[in-house]
Amino acid sequence: MDMTEAHDDSFGIEVILPDGDKPAPCCPHGPALLFEKVSKGGETGRRFYACSACRDRKDCKFFQWEDEKVSEARLLARESENQSKRPPFTQQEYCNRFRKFSSLPLDEKKFCQDCQILLLPGECEAHSSHRSTVVTVAQLRRPSVLLRPLDNKKSNAQYLFTDRSSHFLLDTLAALGYRKVLCVGTPRLQELIKLRNLEQKHEPMKSLLLDIDFRYAQFYSQDEFCHYNMFNHHFFGGEASSAVLQAFLTESGGEKVVMVADPPFGGLVKPLANSFSLISKTWRKLQSSDSSNADMPMMWIFPYFFEPRILECLPSFTMLDYQVDYDNHPLYKHGKTGRKQSPVRLFTNISPKDVVLPKEEGYRFCSVCQRFVWSLNKHCAKCNVCPSKDGREWRHCSTCGKCVKPSWRHCQSCGRCALPDHPCGHAQEKEGCFNCGSLKHKRKACPLKDTHRVSGHRSNVKNSGGKNVSHKPLLKAKGKRKSGAARRAKKMAALSM
Ligand code: SAH
Ligand code: ZN
Ligand code: ZN
Ligand code: ZN
Ligand code: ZN
Repeated sequence: MDMTEAHDDSFGIEVILPDGDKPAPCCPHGPALLFEKVSKGGETGRRFYACSACRDRKDCKFFQWEDEKVSEARLLARESENQSKRPPFTQQEYCNRFRKFSSLPLDEKKFCQDCQILLLPGECEAHSSHRSTVVTVAQLRRPSVLLRPLDNKKSNAQYLFTDRSSHFLLDTLAALGYRKVLCVGTPRLQELIKLRNLEQKHEPMKSLLLDIDFRYAQFYSQDEFCHYNMFNHHFFGGEASSAVLQAFLTESGGEKVVMVADPPFGGLVKPLANSFSLISKTWRKLQSSDSSNADMPMMWIFPYFFEPRILECLPSFTMLDYQVDYDNHPLYKHGKTGRKQSPVRLFTNISPKDVVLPKEEGYRFCSVCQRFVWSLNKHCAKCNVCPSKDGREWRHCSTCGKCVKPSWRHCQSCGRCALPDHPCGHAQEKEGCFNCGSLKHKRKACPLKDTHRVSGHRSNVKNSGGKNVSHKPLLKAKGKRKSGAARRAKKMAALSM
């Protein structure tokens, strides 16, 4: 399978972004997203609301048809369910607790590992049967080490940066002159910024963490943490919380701000891009008039095979060759000989030539492409680019007229390059346009997409949509089509080839 091809990350289900017309119903994760099943046959699928943050019903079972009448009783039940899922303390309360905790003598500074909470003296009794540890001052400054990483594969697995990657990010941003870093789902970066400020060797930087994991609220003040959902741009703390973001985005005293986001890889690109655009819009409004059409500088960390999808949503972005790696993910290691390479890259609207990648790790500057590239990414004179996406050395196929992966061979009957053991003759048909059946483009690029759906064209396709829609089609795609997560897993597995 071509990992670099347009990646339909919604497996026949499209997200319809909110247009402000009617408010979406809420689950514990804020306003739900509106989805539409795209059926192969042609008829418009029935639209439904589902949780924005959780891809697995086990994590959030919210479901509602768009045109469904919801009884008063169900609304009330839903409201109390949402209430019950709220954090036990407000951000203000967390702050006060942290202040108290910090002033405790060392042997009274306890952290309950079972409840993942800092304990104040009066609370230890209630947790006496739980596992708890004493927290040193140094540990208190590294919440991402103290807290157990969430490991829910589908919705919220937390992969923490290695020192190599987090230091690279911070050094790069500092060198580019940024003094404020908006950390969206990057708790370890925020932590490093605060640690460095303590050293007083560098220019101080400000940071604000936006994250759905409210365990982090325990460690930060109100202007350092907002409980936030990046799939629907929802602030759980309401107006007060979005005001914190606004204040942070205001570049008073010439302090330049940049965003670094590292969303869960199972996440949908379109709603993420929408949230980041909204953040940029907020930033722009707060700018002095001369930059009224500028975009807020951003870095979005995501696997390379999402490149077409991300660029489709955010055309001003470029993918950089830098391989981001993680402490607690064995697969995502930086590419050295004999080790697997990380598929995770930086997508940014900062000029690629300004993002200097470390020479000692094997990156070099390509003067033709005007960007830093990985050592194995050799410039192809025929394509006039450094073509590699996955970190391996690609090879030019003169028949295809483009560079392809080293493991691929040109297939005469398919008329293109593919893996030697590809399902010959079928691959392309399956990957044709979902809407009109053409093999020349994907559904997203279909010229007929927005006018109407062509019916009948691909009626012979198995599992044609419409009927058999399971209760929550998004999360349980039936039949042969693999779920987005499954296909991504396959891609991840394919990386080892
Ligand atoms: N590499 C980063 C962590 C990335 S893991 C680091 O080292 O700092 C993904 C992060 O996104 C986690 O912190 C997780 O809590 C957060 N997250 C997951 N889903 C989210 C959502 N819907 N909204 C906001 N943050 C989310
Ligand atoms: Zn406990
Ligand atoms: Zn080439
Ligand atoms: Zn070829
Ligand atoms: Zn073939």
